[in-house]
Amino acid sequence: MKKTAIFPGSFDPYTKGHHDIVMRSLDIFDEVIIGIGYNSTKKNRYFDIDLMVKKIESVYEGMDSVKVIVYNELTSTLAKKHGANFLIRGLRNTTDFEYENTISQMNRYLNEDLETVFLITSPQYAAISSTVIREVHRYGGDVSEFLPYSI
Ligand code: ADP
Repeated sequence: MKKTAIFPGSFDPYTKGHHDIVMRSLDIFDEVIIGIGYNSTKKNRYFDIDLMVKKIESVYEGMDSVKVIVYNELTSTLAKKHGANFLIRGLRNTTDFEYENTISQMNRYLNEDLETVFLITSPQYAAISSTVIREVHRYGGDVSEFLPYSI
């Protein structure tokens, strides 16, 4: 049976840390769906969502095992629709853990077929955060080092 995983996030912007999680997930799963959600606590995006879809797609050009979608519903519902039994999240530190722990319990409650799989960040990407990148970019700093080439 094909193993499909959803990797949900805001990806505002999509970073080398996110890319690393996707590439490592492809060693485990047959297909990874990158789901760009409208996070209710981060309503106003900094980078245009349609532009970000195009940019992420270009990172995985020619790779049929990676899809990019935008969604505006529960991640657990999205997973069901796509026949995905796995949800991927990245963990950088204990703050991520505290948050992710709660979310994963809720997702399990909402969709008992959904298993959350946590991948610990690779050390070279541990300090990369979309929030910090947005702040540096806003004030004219060069953030290209932290983003995949086509982003
Ligand atoms: P969200 O708004 O859902 O937290 P993000 O786009 O910030 O979305 O992150 C999506 C996922 O990627 C989360 O699981 C987050 O912990 C993980 N992540 C973000 N940055 C990194 C990184 N540098 N290394 C590993 N995982 C990361």
